[in-house]
Amino acid sequence: MQRLGKNIGGYHGETIDIQHVLEEIARVAAGKNWARAADFPALLRPHPAPRARVYISTGIHGDEPAGPLAALQLLREDRWPGGVAIWLCPCLNPTGFPLNRRENAQGVDLNRDYRHFQSAETRAHADWLQRQPPFDISLCLHEDWESNGFYVYELNPDHRPSFAEKIIQAAAQVCPVDLSPVIEDRPAQNGIIRPDFNLADRPQWPEAIYLITHKTRQSYTLEAPSDFPLPARAAALTAAVQAVLAAL
Ligand SMILES: [Zn+2]
Repeated sequence: MQRLGKNIGGYHGETIDIQHVLEEIARVAAGKNWARAADFPALLRPHPAPRARVYISTGIHGDEPAGPLAALQLLREDRWPGGVAIWLCPCLNPTGFPLNRRENAQGVDLNRDYRHFQSAETRAHADWLQRQPPFDISLCLHEDWESNGFYVYELNPDHRPSFAEKIIQAAAQVCPVDLSPVIEDRPAQNGIIRPDFNLADRPQWPEAIYLITHKTRQSYTLEAPSDFPLPARAAALTAAVQAVLAAL
């Protein structure tokens, strides 16, 4: 599979009708073992005594359509492990998608706004997260228009058994993996970045740093390569999430 070579200086690929995708997500989830959160655009797969709680979010960057499509595909596949409760946020930036841009309609990169909360979206999200129990693992689904292949950030401060290799192995069945020794200015190995900087020192927090600070001790940010066809990127994110769920 070759890079398309059209995403230069930004994302110029396929777009989605986010309203249509969200309606489809609601339609597919209805009648299955999902509940709509009353106080935030999220779906909950409850369990009275779960052996694991998994948080999945996507759509925080409006120029990354593969994530919401992966959320829809996961619901369509409907393969959820027994005894696991799931929290699914299918689109954290609904005003960014119609503009096909990373930021929200007001120009705020929501994924840099989880320390100072300048946007209504991140404030509402954090307020809602505070009302949820802690998660055993969080998965944030993204894309990167610059990358040569799939990669993943792992935050795992307690050195629990890693899911990173499983994520990469699953994605590699569908699309190339970025094998660069440096990705986004950070050392990487086989498509895995394990940042070792002091997280709390960063002036702008992405969602994952908020999550690792407040809600979970194991976080993965999955990055599909935007310069490949959209169906492949969505399938890679879907396969990676399925690999984590199967390993729980
Ligand atoms: Zn992103």
